[in-house]
Amino acid sequence: MAKDKLTRLNGDERLGQCRASEYLGAEDIDDGVEPVLTIEGLWNGMVTLQRGKENKDVLTFVEKSVPGIRQVRPLIINATNRKVLRKLYGDAKASTLVGKQIQLYIDHNVRDPQDGGMTDGVRIRAHKPRVQAAPAPIPPCTDCKGEIKPAMGKDARWMVAYTTKHYGVPLCADCAQKRKAAQTAAAPVPAEPEAPAEPTPTPEATETEVL
Ligand SMILES: [Zn+2]
Repeated sequence: MAKDKLTRLNGDERLGQCRASEYLGAEDIDDGVEPVLTIEGLWNGMVTLQRGKENKDVLTFVEKSVPGIRQVRPLIINATNRKVLRKLYGDAKASTLVGKQIQLYIDHNVRDPQDGGMTDGVRIRAHKPRVQAAPAPIPPCTDCKGEIKPAMGKDARWMVAYTTKHYGVPLCADCAQKRKAAQTAAAPVPAEPEAPAEPTPTPEATETEVL
């Protein structure tokens, strides 16, 4: 290699990711990821761009690294993104925006101010970040403390909902059967024997009611 000091990229390090720019650019964001960042501060000042120095608004972020951005840098806010921020949170005051979350995406149809061609730009989504709430964990069976597993062709979450509705507590299929049997045994014995002609319900017809 030449005399320049180069750093070899390995593994999931990718081109565009290690550039020395002071500000966040489209190259910093992984394809297909829309990172969520928390605003740490609002700044204004002369910013050094390729085309010279310009007065710009800048956002800084709480996070140092998030899924989709290996190194979070300050984001220069253009007029489009400023409008989005105002729309999102009512105004663009520091007191309003600090601590708020934004979701970034790459717009591939941004007009390059230098050559007039199309380039990629970092944009703020016009909706508040939909941070995916982690699904509630599946509780253990109240009776045997065992894992509630899928049963009767239904998944574990359905089992939890069904047994909680019918027995007041989450149960595994085995324990639900036991409770069902116990309830039946505790029920008053009918005075007269049941008519033998009564057809027994088929398992298919009562599939979701067997417990
Ligand atoms: Zn159980």
